[in-house]
Amino acid sequence: MRPPTYCTRCAGELDHSGRHPVCTACGRTHHRDPKVGVGVVVVQDGRLLLVRRGVDPGKGLWALPAGYVDAGEDPRGAAAREAQEETGLEVAVGAVLDVYPSAAVTDGGHGGASFFLAFLATGGGGELAAADDALDAGFFGADQLPELAFPSTRDAVRRALSPGSGPAAR
Ligand SMILES: [Zn+2]
Repeated sequence: MRPPTYCTRCAGELDHSGRHPVCTACGRTHHRDPKVGVGVVVVQDGRLLLVRRGVDPGKGLWALPAGYVDAGEDPRGAAAREAQEETGLEVAVGAVLDVYPSAAVTDGGHGGASFFLAFLATGGGGELAAADDALDAGFFGADQLPELAFPSTRDAVRRALSPGSGPAAR
């Protein structure tokens, strides 16, 4: 993401020489907050829950049910909310499988999360039905995987479908 060139408070010119842009007119420091992505790894009967993305990055490809954490929202709550919105399923969000940096989430593209938390989760109630940002949703075994969107997806899928893998395995 490119930093703003002008101050959003006074329209003064920004100085980009430091760690954060600083307004040369009013002195305001322009912090850029990270966009935090969260997603769930749900495995049932050896098959993993995936959604086909309806938005870029990765539009048309398959990924974990995922989305952004709203300001003030609990990350696990956000992960459960996104899973419910995209798949119709209520999930119980557990341990962190891993934390992925931006490059692993966007595949080098733009518009993705600053970083991504992949949570292990277990399926609860509800009926599987794609909605919101997802074009489709389903459970896939290791031998029937669709085209996956991101390095983070591929890593999480590989670990989720490998026996004995977990948060500590890498
Ligand atoms: Zn200013």
